[in-house]
Amino acid sequence: RAKEDGRGTYRFFETGMDARAQARRLLELDLRAALQRGEFEVYYQPIRDVAKDVVVAFEALVRWNHSLRGMISPVNFIPLAEETGLIVPLGDWVLRQACMDAAGWSQDVGVAVNLSPVQFKNLNLVASVKDALSASGLPAHRLELEITESVLLQNTEATLSVLHELRGFGVKISLDDFGTGYSSLSYLRSFPFDKIKIDRSFVSELATREDSMAIVRAVTGLGKSLGIVTTAEGVETDAQFDLLRQEGCTQAQGYLFSRPRPAADVENMLIQPRQRLIA
Ligand code: C2E
Ligand code: MG
Ligand code: MG
Ligand code: MG
Repeated sequence: RAKEDGRGTYRFFETGMDARAQARRLLELDLRAALQRGEFEVYYQPIRDVAKDVVVAFEALVRWNHSLRGMISPVNFIPLAEETGLIVPLGDWVLRQACMDAAGWSQDVGVAVNLSPVQFKNLNLVASVKDALSASGLPAHRLELEITESVLLQNTEATLSVLHELRGFGVKISLDDFGTGYSSLSYLRSFPFDKIKIDRSFVSELATREDSMAIVRAVTGLGKSLGIVTTAEGVETDAQFDLLRQEGCTQAQGYLFSRPRPAADVENMLIQPRQRLIA
């Protein structure tokens, strides 16, 4: 029953909205504390060159190792981290950690770090990237920054100048989740991307839907004529991989090769030959 006194502690849980707001508030406090306690961890998923059939990069994917709730997926905390601005210190931490890890790998493969649109509103983004590179000693050309179309939707002039500055000192810029937003093609003209990542939703239906196949074919063709690397995300089957190779897609990433794994597993993933279909 709702308490009638001023604090309203119980009343807070009475309606759906308040319960949700309360849960969100708790998660926010939890997120803040987690940053201080060092509960985040960077996992790595290999990206393979299709023609050469070797690992050429790893994508850094953050995980929250919650003391009570176990491993939490980024889809369950990145949106809140963005709303609260916590993505700025968290994103900075991921960037530094990923550069540090990559600098220690036995092969000079790339490391891809996801950037939130919110990080572009922060005036220190360029300085943060430079700091992460110099602190780790990682050469700029080994760092790839993944952005989505939503980054280009906001404050375009300022955003473009940040992207040009980053690319100016050798960092590569990838367009992530390509095909899921809108007016995708005009973005390819607004900035010289180094790489297009074809969204998993197209790759997953590659072998079963003609239209998905047509879209993948169009994007790889576009990449070839514009001189942009194409990477297929979410490759899970040999059938998908074979079609991608046939279409001349440059790189592939997905559970077929490996799930994202802790940093300690990177060296093993580097020497692993491509596996045949994992059930
Ligand atoms: P994304 O950047 O598109 O990353 C690819 C996602 O697809 C990852 O999910 C990866 O584990 C998953 N994936 C890869 N291969 C397969 C596959 O074969 N099948 C299936 N079903 N999934 C596959 P994850 O790690 O849960 O990350 C989800 C999203 O969270 C990322 O999507 C990215 O948008 C965001 N994210 C992750 N780490 C960071 C980060 O450090 N900063 C920011 N801003 N966002 C991040
Ligand atoms: Mg990504
Ligand atoms: Mg993606
Ligand atoms: Mg995606």
